[in-house]
Amino acid sequence: ATPMSIISGVGRAAEFGVLVRDADALQRASTLDTLVFDKTGTLTEGKPQVVAVKTHGEIQESEAVKLAAALEQGSSHPLARAILEKAGGTKLPEVIGFRTLRGLGVSGEAQGHKLFLGNKALLDEQKIDTQPLADEIEAQARQGSTPVLLAVDGKLVALFAIRDPLRADSVSALQRLHRNGYRLVMLTGDNSITANAIAKEAGIDEVIAGVLPDGKAEAIKNLQRQGRQVAMVGDGINDAPALAQAEVGIAMGGGSDVAIETAAITLMRHSLTGVADALAISKATLRNMK
Ligand code: ADP
Ligand code: MG
Repeated sequence: ATPMSIISGVGRAAEFGVLVRDADALQRASTLDTLVFDKTGTLTEGKPQVVAVKTHGEIQESEAVKLAAALEQGSSHPLARAILEKAGGTKLPEVIGFRTLRGLGVSGEAQGHKLFLGNKALLDEQKIDTQPLADEIEAQARQGSTPVLLAVDGKLVALFAIRDPLRADSVSALQRLHRNGYRLVMLTGDNSITANAIAKEAGIDEVIAGVLPDGKAEAIKNLQRQGRQVAMVGDGINDAPALAQAEVGIAMGGGSDVAIETAAITLMRHSLTGVADALAISKATLRNMK
C-alpha cells in the first residue's frame, strides 16, 4: 500500500510541472546525492551554431562548408543542423557511401573525394594529422566551442567551431541544487576541453567527457560502484540506457520519446528548474512521512 502522503507528493509535483511515474520513484529521489547531466540539449539549448571557420591549405571556406554540409544531410545530430544552417540554401553535391560513426562523426564521398567530418578522435583513428590546426582547435575548445574537423582525401582542410550556449536558467537551477548539497556531474560525448569550459561556466563539479553513446550507462554504474546514489538527467535517445541505470532517470520535457518512456520522472518544461523542484518535493514528502 502506498502511504497517502506519497500520493499527495506525486500530485504536488504535477503542480510544479513534474510528472512522477510511480510512488517508488519519489521515494528513491529523496535519497540521492549525485546528479548527472547530459550536456547537449539538457544543460545547453541544444541549438548549436557555427561561430568560426578556419581552413588549412588551398580550399576556399565556401567549398569546405559545402562539402561538410553535403555530408551532414545524412545526420540527425544537432551539430549537423548547425553546419547545414551555415551552408544556407547553397546547392550541395551528392554524397555516396554515407556513414554515421557513432560518437565520432560522419563519412562519405562527394565529387570524387573521400570525406571525414567529426572530432579529433575520428581523425586520429583515421591517422589524419590534425597538427596544422592544433592551436586553433584547442583555442576554440577552451572557449567552450566544439571543434568539428573536415578531412578531404586524408588531409585536414577545415575546422568548424560550433557553440551551443547554456540554457538561460541552467546556472541558477544548478546553483540551487549545489546549495542543497548535491554533487553535480556532466556526462558527454564531446571532448574534455570543451566540456570542462562549459562545466566551469555552469558550476558543475565533475566532468565525464568523450563517452561513446553506449558508455553512458556504464559511467552511471561506475558512480554507483563508488557508493553514489545517482539521478541521470537527459533528453536524447542515447541517454535512455543511462536513465534506466540510474536510481532515478529524469527526462527533459520535449526530449525524445524514448528518454521520456524510460525515465521515472519527466519534466513538462524543458528547464532544469524542474529538477530542483522535483527533488525538493520528494524530500519534503518523505520527511512528512516520518
Ligand atoms: P553528444 O550527444 O554528447 O554530443 P555524441 O556521442 O552524439 O555525444 O557525439 C560525440 C561527438 O562526436 C560530438 O561532440 C562530435 O564531436 C562528434 N560527432 C558526432 N556526430 C557528429 C556529426 N554528425 N557531425 C560532426 N561531429 C559529430
Ligand atoms: Mg542531449
